[in-house]
Amino acid sequence: MNTVYLDNAATTQLRPEVVAEITRVLSEDFGNPSSTHSFGRHAKGVIETARKSIAAHLGCSAQEIVFTSGATEANNWIIKSAISDFKVERIITTKIEHHAVLETVEHLGHEFSIDVQFLNIARNGEVDLAQLEALLSENVPTLVSLMHVNNEVGSMLDLVKVGNLCRQYNAHFHSDTVQSIGKTEFNLKELPIDFAVASAHKFHGPKGVGFAYIRKGLVVNPIMFGGEQEKGIRPGTEGVHNIAGMAKALDLSYSNLSDERQYITGLKQYAVEALRKTFGDIKVNGSAENGFYNILNVCLPMDEQKSLMILFNLDMKGIALSRGSACQSGSAKPSHVLAEMLGEDDIRKPSLRISFSHYNTTQDIDTLVAALQTI
Ligand code: PLP
Repeated sequence: MNTVYLDNAATTQLRPEVVAEITRVLSEDFGNPSSTHSFGRHAKGVIETARKSIAAHLGCSAQEIVFTSGATEANNWIIKSAISDFKVERIITTKIEHHAVLETVEHLGHEFSIDVQFLNIARNGEVDLAQLEALLSENVPTLVSLMHVNNEVGSMLDLVKVGNLCRQYNAHFHSDTVQSIGKTEFNLKELPIDFAVASAHKFHGPKGVGFAYIRKGLVVNPIMFGGEQEKGIRPGTEGVHNIAGMAKALDLSYSNLSDERQYITGLKQYAVEALRKTFGDIKVNGSAENGFYNILNVCLPMDEQKSLMILFNLDMKGIALSRGSACQSGSAKPSHVLAEMLGEDDIRKPSLRISFSHYNTTQDIDTLVAALQTI
């Protein structure tokens, strides 16, 4: 059976060059980077070269990049640190964050009796920045945690606007940048952001590795203990091959960015047109005009009964996509993101998240549309 993979917001296929780099490091640089002999020094060199390369692509300094097991860990760490190291008394966020932020904020907010405020979300996924400013003007020590690109609908946050507001009112600003790092340009030195996070498997790199960007001058403490790795703030023997693979993946993402972005933008337009031609009245969830270029979330004019079985039926035909984030796509519960944005009627209709990469073709979209017609 031919398969079609249209779930690139959940994870992405590794580039062959990344697989080659990981394999090379696994066989050639097996030393423990904490060892002082030549094998260890060599492995340490691989890590530091990767750190410099990542920092150069993002316009920050190498010491501002701390390697982690991925973005869930990095988000948890930063939010916890804001409470215990920066003594914030309030967290301002939204209900459309990824669970890696939302559940962490809810859990820690409860544990440490921190005030948690959720900003209003418009139907197009936009965050209410007037409400943000009104809250910030109350001058409570605050962490603002707002994602850059929403992983379910692709709505985008204006990082400069939010960051400037945070600076104006002395709030710390954390952004979950998982869906945008590697897919759009960053200059972290210029951007008014204190903390950002990334996960390699979202940009054609390996799973189980990512990093936190922590602006120079912000001193965070570890949440785990037992080693001096990453200057003692993130102990544990480094996955050298994964870190090297992540740096290679980010390097290739940025080298190919303008061509691949243009290609993927074209695919998304093709998909919208093909779905409109076939189903007529489709609704783009989030912003039809300003959604991020690789994520398309559509509400199909189909019977509510089909909602539950649609992914299963597509999967039977070898087509992979999802309703929301991967961790809830098998669930019958409506997506927590769509629940914030859609009315009662639309929330029950089948909505699909179609997310693209440069590996997709218009043929993939034709196959999806033909399969949807049979459901
Ligand atoms: N934040 C967002 C926006 C995501 O899409 C994901 C992945 O699904 C995560 C965080 C979690 O990242 P990781 O898989 O590295 O833990």
